[in-house]
Order: sequence, then C-alpha cells, then structure tokens
Amino acid sequence: MAKERTLVLLKPGTVQRGLIGNVINRFERKGLHLCGMKLMQLTDEVLSEHYAHLAEKPFFQRVKNSMMAAPVVAMCWEGVDAIEVVRTLCGPTNGRAAAPGTIRGDFSMSFQENIVHASDGPETAAVEIKRFFKPEELLDWGSCAHGFTYANDEC
Ligand code: ADP
Repeated sequence: MAKERTLVLLKPGTVQRGLIGNVINRFERKGLHLCGMKLMQLTDEVLSEHYAHLAEKPFFQRVKNSMMAAPVVAMCWEGVDAIEVVRTLCGPTNGRAAAPGTIRGDFSMSFQENIVHASDGPETAAVEIKRFFKPEELLDWGSCAHGFTYANDEC
C-alpha cells in the first residue's frame, strides 16, 4: 500500500475562532504525518483557480470572499489512503449535517463556514499541493512512531 499526500486548508473561520490547534490535533492523533504547514493570505486569483468547479454557482464570489476574510493554514498530510482518510475525518460539506465526531460535525453550523478544505482525489491532491506549496516547503522526515502506526505490510 502506497502512501499518499493530501492538501488541507484550515479556513479563515477556523483561524478567527481559535480552532487551529483543535483541528490539527484531529489529524495528528489519527496518525497522519505532517509534511508542510504555513499561514497564508489567499487572493481572488488563486481562489478562482482552486474553486473553478464552483464558478457557475451563485455563491462562488461569496465563498471566495469568505476564504479571503483572514489567513488560512495550509497543510500537507501524508499516510496510507490519506486522501480518503482526511475526507472522512472532515465529514460532509454541510456542517449542520455532518456527524458528531467529524471535524465539521463538531465545529461547524454552516454549509459555507465549514472549517476545513481537503483534496477530494489523487489528481486534485497533486494539483492542490503544487498550488499551495513549493517543493522545498515539503519535508521528508522520518517519524519515530511509524512502526507503531502501521504493520510492516501496510506500507
Ligand atoms: P467540499 O469543500 O466539501 O469539497 P465543494 O468543493 O463542493 O465541497 O465546495 C467548496 C466549498 O464551497 C465548500 O467547502 C463550502 O465552503 C462552499 N460551498 C459548497 N456548496 C455550498 C452551498 N450550497 N452553500 C454555501 N457554500 C457552499
């Protein structure tokens, strides 16, 4: 089983509400491996690219404005099946419908203000990681916990 990398953004609401640590803790305690992390102010230009699949939606500009309302924390997490594991931890888009125990279910009351962005597939993850990180900002470092996180045949 190969390891994957995925892109996570902690949205401006998460930063403003003081929830950065709470959300990072969800990924850390699961056993995911942090490869890169930085605080960024996003622009309309990068968001138009990032949310291009929403360009025809009536809420497109509103979502972009929300993503520019404060900095975001951009992170790259690694692990076996990391893309799906992270999406499951986040829960569905609408925070009100997300189950307790998921990040959105525990911290969000909104469709739009839903705490976190996470890549939805391998192709998207590759493009999104490149969009937010230069290659030298992603570190390859060995986790001491690796042998206690996976069985030998899992990765
Ligand atoms: P996800 O972030 O779960 O992958 P999408 O890619 O469909 O979901 O949408 C991107 C973001 O746009 C969502 O996280 C949310 O902030 C916002 N959004 C999507 N659909 C709606 C909606 N119907 N009403 C308000 N905001 C929405």
